[in-house]
Amino acid sequence: MNGGGQPASKQSMRRHNLALVLRQVAASESASRATVAARVGLTKATVSSLVEELRLAGLVIEHVPENQGRVGRPGGALALNPRGAAGVGVEVNVDYTAVCVADLTGAPRVRLTERADNRGRGAEETLHSAGRLAARACAAARRAGLAPVQVTLGVPGLVHDDRVLHAPNLDWRHVPAGDLLVRGLGRQRLAVSVDNEANLAAIGEFQARPPGAGASFLYVSGEIGIGAGLMVDGELFRGGGFAGEIGHVTVIPDGPECGCGARGCLERYAGQDALLEAAALDSVSATRLGSAPAVTATATRTGGGPGRHALQEAPTEGSAPVERLAALAAEGDDAAVRALAVAGRALGVALSGAVNLLDPPEVVIGGIYARLAPWLIPSLQVQLHERVTSGRWRSDRLRVSGLGTEAAVRGAAGAGVQAILRDPSAYIDLTSPVL
Ligand SMILES: [Zn+2]
Repeated sequence: MNGGGQPASKQSMRRHNLALVLRQVAASESASRATVAARVGLTKATVSSLVEELRLAGLVIEHVPENQGRVGRPGGALALNPRGAAGVGVEVNVDYTAVCVADLTGAPRVRLTERADNRGRGAEETLHSAGRLAARACAAARRAGLAPVQVTLGVPGLVHDDRVLHAPNLDWRHVPAGDLLVRGLGRQRLAVSVDNEANLAAIGEFQARPPGAGASFLYVSGEIGIGAGLMVDGELFRGGGFAGEIGHVTVIPDGPECGCGARGCLERYAGQDALLEAAALDSVSATRLGSAPAVTATATRTGGGPGRHALQEAPTEGSAPVERLAALAAEGDDAAVRALAVAGRALGVALSGAVNLLDPPEVVIGGIYARLAPWLIPSLQVQLHERVTSGRWRSDRLRVSGLGTEAAVRGAAGAGVQAILRDPSAYIDLTSPVL
């Protein structure tokens, strides 16, 4: 299976065609080798040999009808192998670290969450710990028959070339995050890439959309920081590399100072800490500072049968302070309701600017905003209705993400899967014995 020794053009042709065939298998339901050949415009013999390579590498399975003899005959129905290569998503946020392993179909199979205050803990310790959590998730995935291969790390900060240039809420500057995570992973041959967590959350939101849902939207992720991802026709718009820093859009120019050095940023009114402070809730004690990190784990082990998608869904756990804020608001507590109305208003002001500038068909709020939506949305909608002039604002253009705080880690795992689907030859060459 090793491509070594072949002329460059032949290798690049093989690489291109393997990806073409694998994507066709992913897009089709129960297509045979002959059907795939017809759809991609290659000969049946060529497709048959490519399918065989994908099958031997564990990326594709072939269901052969019982009356058809041995495995590998051209009439079998092809599908992505749910027990083969897997993408691993790791999210390091300010008050938790999460890991998700997704199989080739994109279904989440293992999820681990560790609640810990990562502020002031240091990048090295935080990323080593995240690497160890990812190694545990990979071990659980292997026991479930999966082969984790690609790790995507999401961080709430500015990321360039797998390095975190600045993550104000983690107090990280110029951190080689990919390298540090690899060290925590131990002796595992896993490729690692790093991205901004709101970008990955927008990708996660896109991947979880039902067929036929729009492919262009602005996703806004509420956490201790606030990030956004602009999805345009299914592709993330990155601008010069750092698009989406909506948390540092100015709401009130002479407002309170922000961790970024500017004043009156959206984050100072609608970020998790600002919300808790305004609701007179202690964010420090509520995040259980000083106690041992709580670990919640869900490992889903399933076979390849029809029940595979009946996943054991772990409840999307909000952090304790956010749950308390929601409970107080539900009881009608004045300070909680007022804090959420103020945050909704600030969000509405910032989002109106974004909508007037970009006119996205939809705005999706996620992260902690999904949990707090009932109390944020009224004042948020008022601002959008009053301020959006780029087209009539309809209330149904604002949606709440169904993924809550899981969007980023799900998107990170999905990004790994997409990388395998885009270039299966890299995976095959990595896993094949060197000849
Ligand atoms: Zn700021």
